[in-house]
Amino acid sequence: MDIYGILAHPAHHSLSPAMHNAGFKALGIDADFRIFDVPASELEQFTKLMREEKIKGLSVSKPHKENIMHFLDEVDGIAEKIGACNFVYEKNGRYLGSNVDWIGIKEPIDQFGGFEDKNVVILGAGGAARAAVFTAKKSHAASITVLNRTLEHAKTLAEEFDCEFNKLVNFNGADIVIQATSAGLNNPEGVELIPKEKLNPSMLIFEMIYTPRETRLIRDALEVGAQVITGENMLLHQGYAAFEIWTAQKPPREIMRQAVLDKIT
Ligand code: NDP
Repeated sequence: MDIYGILAHPAHHSLSPAMHNAGFKALGIDADFRIFDVPASELEQFTKLMREEKIKGLSVSKPHKENIMHFLDEVDGIAEKIGACNFVYEKNGRYLGSNVDWIGIKEPIDQFGGFEDKNVVILGAGGAARAAVFTAKKSHAASITVLNRTLEHAKTLAEEFDCEFNKLVNFNGADIVIQATSAGLNNPEGVELIPKEKLNPSMLIFEMIYTPRETRLIRDALEVGAQVITGENMLLHQGYAAFEIWTAQKPPREIMRQAVLDKIT
C-alpha cells in the first residue's frame, strides 16, 4: 500500500485525508492518506522517516511550508518564487517539492473569466497572500494591490512582486477580491474586513477560509449580489492537482468535493 499524508501542526482539523482517501477508494488505488502531526522541532526527524518508510507524497501546511524545502532533493521554481512548498512527491527515490496552492486559486477564478485585465485586490500579506499575488501576476492581472492590517508586511510582499500596497482599511474597489487573511477563521460571526457598502454586484469575491464556509465577507457579498468562490474550492483544486501528479490518474473531482463538503456543511 502506498502511503501519503498531510504534514502539519496542528493537523487534526485537516480535510485532506477525507478528500484524498475518497479519491483513492473511488479509483481502486491501494493507498492511504494519513495525518502526520509533526511539531517544527521534529521536522528533520520526520523527513528521515519519510525516506525510510518510502512515503509517496505529502501535502504540507503550517508551520512546515518553508522549512521542508531544506530536506528535499529538489524544489521547483514555483515553490521557490512563492517561497513555500505545500506539495511533495517521490520519484525514483528522490523527494521533489512544489507548490500547488496557486492552482487552487487560478482554476476557480478561471471558471469566472480569469485574471487577465482585471484589477485585483488581495487582503492579507502572509503565505497564502503570497501565493495569490504570484497567481495574479502570472495570470496577467491589470493591477494587483496588497491590503494588510500591518502596512509593513504589505509593503514587503508588494515590493517583491512589483505591485501596489496599502492598509486594509483603504479598500477602494476591485474586479476581483481575494481574501487571504486568517481574520474570522473558526468564527461563525466572522470579522468585517470590508464594509458591505464597498462591495458591488460586479465584483468576484474569492474567500480562502472554509471554516465557516459562509464567512462574513461571503455573506455580505451574496447580499449585494456579487459572485463568490468559497474557501473549499482552493483546497479542492490544489488537491486535484496533487492527486493527479501523485497517481498519474484524473482525480474523481465530484467524489472528492462531496467528501470535503460532507465535513464542512
Ligand atoms: P499567515 O499567518 O501567514 O497570514 C495571516 C494574515 O492574516 C496576515 O496578513 C495577517 O495580518 C492577517 N490577519 C490575521 N488576523 C487579522 C485580523 N484580525 N484582521 C486583519 N488581518 C488579520 O496565514 P496564511 O497566509 O498561511 O493563511 C491565511 C488564511 O488562508 C488562513 O485563514 C488559512 O486557513 C487560509 N488558507 C486556506 C487555504 C485553502 O486551501 N482554502 C490554503 C492556505 C491558507 P498581519 O500581517 O497584520 O499580521
